[in-house]
Amino acid sequence: MNNNTPHLVVISAPSGTGKTTLVRALLASNSNMVASVSYTTRTKRANELDGEDYNFVTNDVFESMIANGDLLEYAKVFGNHYGTPKKDVNEQLSSGHNVILEIDWQGAIQVKQKVADCLLLFILPPSKNELMSRLQKRGTDSNEQIKMRFDEALNDIKQFEHFDRVFVNQDINVTVNEILAYIEKPNLNKTRLPEDVLSIIKGFQ
Ligand code: 5GP
Repeated sequence: MNNNTPHLVVISAPSGTGKTTLVRALLASNSNMVASVSYTTRTKRANELDGEDYNFVTNDVFESMIANGDLLEYAKVFGNHYGTPKKDVNEQLSSGHNVILEIDWQGAIQVKQKVADCLLLFILPPSKNELMSRLQKRGTDSNEQIKMRFDEALNDIKQFEHFDRVFVNQDINVTVNEILAYIEKPNLNKTRLPEDVLSIIKGFQ
């Protein structure tokens, strides 16, 4: 990877796609990648660390960050506010790192408007059935929550057209390698929707 031109890489995926595991694998891939830590008004989960998984803040703090222009993008997801700190991302890019933003599609669109040469990646689960089974396997959500996340995911999938490249996460190692190859030479990989990805998208419609 060319260290002189670090990339801002936005990764969006509906829940149940394996996005968190995927981002961890990318960070561990020795490709000079770091992840931005977002700010959120959501309540911290038991297994999360403040400053590491998210910066957990109050609504007042979040609103003042918006007013001060501190956020590169922000959006409301599942009733909570999330935003990307502009200064941290600029510092990470200036120090030569590729920076990953793991954010929702609304935020991805805002980032593209501000940073024209960022890369917007969208990750899909392999099928509707696999999406449902992944959501059920988590074991932490009620049936009602699973149904809500499933419907939300189907809705999110409709947003694929805003992205530079769509990947299907069937096998994590394969997907990581595909993403790394794309980031290394985005201009050579202009096909946004390879045939196999297109047919998978049709299966969700
Ligand atoms: P969770 O609360 O489950 O960690 O995340 C819920 C959703 O918020 C996910 O789709 C995640 O990608 C998105 N998200 C996390 N951080 C940000 C952010 O800074 N900006 C935006 N727009 N979405 C975010």
